[in-house]
Amino acid sequence: MSDFAQDIETDSGIYKTLLESTKAIPWKIDWASMRFAYIGPQIERLLGWTPASWVSAEDWATRMHPEDRAWVVDFCVAQSQAGTDHEADYRALTKAGNYVWIRDVVHVMRNAAGEVEALVGFMFDISERKKTEQKLLDLQKELEALSFKDGLTGIANRRMFDSVMEMEWSHARRSSQPLSLIMLDIDYFKQYNDHYGHVQGDQCLKQIGQVLTSAATRSRDFVARFGGEEFVLVLPETDEESAAKIAERCRNLLFKEQIPHENSPVSQILSVSIGVGTVVPAHGDEPVAFIEAVDRRLYQAKGKGRNCVVKAG
Ligand code: GH3
Ligand code: MG
Ligand code: MG
Repeated sequence: MSDFAQDIETDSGIYKTLLESTKAIPWKIDWASMRFAYIGPQIERLLGWTPASWVSAEDWATRMHPEDRAWVVDFCVAQSQAGTDHEADYRALTKAGNYVWIRDVVHVMRNAAGEVEALVGFMFDISERKKTEQKLLDLQKELEALSFKDGLTGIANRRMFDSVMEMEWSHARRSSQPLSLIMLDIDYFKQYNDHYGHVQGDQCLKQIGQVLTSAATRSRDFVARFGGEEFVLVLPETDEESAAKIAERCRNLLFKEQIPHENSPVSQILSVSIGVGTVVPAHGDEPVAFIEAVDRRLYQAKGKGRNCVVKAG
């Protein structure tokens, strides 16, 4: 038995009893040989490996998640060499092949000459804490995604549109590239709801969100629900001619869906009115004026009888 184990065997076994009855798992490694002088029997309950199977620091490193191993070993060796107490969180391998999150808290012991003699520490099972942390992270991500996503259609919402527009606006200004915007509004959607009911109206909005997403094919093309039954497409590095083509593509793809709208005064099939605009933003220009200009074209399309596209010129 090692000195350390013997030390704690004396004193009426008080220390040993104390050490081995805590949830934290005590251990000691001899610095010169890098071998375990002691490890608490609790280790077997937590990880399944018997205390006797912890022979050298190598066993410790091997029984660690491959993604954690390199940095944890490097960090602990560096800290120990510098004589600094430290702690590290890592996933320890169980005998059954699973992983348990552990916090290892390490104290560096020195001899009278000040040289590192041994490392002693406690391993704490922090898997519950890590699970909670992960849950919080997941929730945070979900919340972030939700706040940029339209709850009904699942596509981006108005807030996301505002951010993307700001970003693409500055990009277009810096690169002197054209930026195009398409705004669509469903024709006589109030009548649609009145005739088919709100539930089917909602279903229709979802379907349109999907169709418009498929109409925008470039990686930076962006589709959002602008409001009630209005949608927008932001098309970076796209000139007037290409934008007009994409607007027509939106109309055609929607027509192909053949969504019935019996009460529509313009067509028996659900239709949309579209405004299109293109800009190369100059220094000092703001997106809002451009958005308003495209919105005016959309209302011109309504005025012209709906189910059509109004573009520049
Ligand atoms: P126009 O051709 O002039 O655009 O006529 P419209 O009836 O489409 O326009 P209006 O602005 O009068 O009505 C928009 C309708 O869209 C009214 C509203 O009930 C409906 N709407 C807005 N948001 C939703 C939604 O989330 N779900 C459903 N089902 N309907 C919605
Ligand atoms: Mg509208
Ligand atoms: Mg409408």
